[in-house]
Amino acid sequence: MNQDSVVVLTGGSRGIGLEIAKEISKITKKIAIVGRNKEALANAAEATGAKTFSADVTDHAAMKKIVGEVRALWGPIDALVLNAGIADSAKFLETDDAMFDRIMATNVKAPFQLAREVIPDMLAKKSGRIVFMASNAGLSGYALTSAYCTSKHAVVGLMRSMASEYAKTGITVNAVCPGFVDTDMTSESIARVVEKTGKTFDEAKKSLERISPAQRFVSVQEVAAGAMYLLSDGARGVNGQTIVIDGGQVMK
Ligand code: NDP
Repeated sequence: MNQDSVVVLTGGSRGIGLEIAKEISKITKKIAIVGRNKEALANAAEATGAKTFSADVTDHAAMKKIVGEVRALWGPIDALVLNAGIADSAKFLETDDAMFDRIMATNVKAPFQLAREVIPDMLAKKSGRIVFMASNAGLSGYALTSAYCTSKHAVVGLMRSMASEYAKTGITVNAVCPGFVDTDMTSESIARVVEKTGKTFDEAKKSLERISPAQRFVSVQEVAAGAMYLLSDGARGVNGQTIVIDGGQVMK
């Protein structure tokens, strides 16, 4: 990645994505961020100088339009960071079709469709970087999160398949797999534990922190560092890999 690289990043308005956007913006200003909340996008634009697009990643037509606008503005896309995602938790028998479909649409089908939209640019340039934000829940099973775990395993499978298919083309496809990260998503998980168990916020937080051998959440900076490595020129030979950032919880 260099100062002329054109980057599209989903879910860049807050959390992990915003931190990645900040790091990317130190290298190139040709960065397009997608999210839904306009206020969060405006804050991200101020923090990064990125061009922001308000859209739901599950709206395929809207995402196609954004890709067209980015190409018209800066030319073909060099790097794609598929970070937007949602989580929810429920007992397996209480995981209804609506929850399953919502999570799969956002976490799996949307990145699949967007990657399919962008790959032709990379094939024409004989180079490109695709980074999926998966999870350690894409490598191991966790109770009470069957839909989320399914979606992240699917993301890892999609990443591996694409990496294999495009290995000869100069495109690399990899995934970052964090454990719990200190973001809104994790605060919502803590709130669900509070609601279901009656624990205090601090007790619930500690119970989730203790899942990692490091006994803590990882930071957005630590996760962004993993993504930035995969986007760097030095990672040209890294393809089809999952970079696990979870304090040693999942060992491959
Ligand atoms: P946050 O909830 O803090 O942020 C999610 C980002 O994605 C926001 O910018 C949000 O913007 C955007 N987003 C969500 N749904 C959509 C949608 N349908 N269309 C467009 N944008 C959307 O999450 P994190 O930063 O914590 O997580 C980012 C990624 O990392 C996710 O894929 C998540 O699964 C993964 N991850 C997170 C972990 C964690 O512990 N937090 C652990 C492992 C993986 P807006 O709501 O405005 O649309």
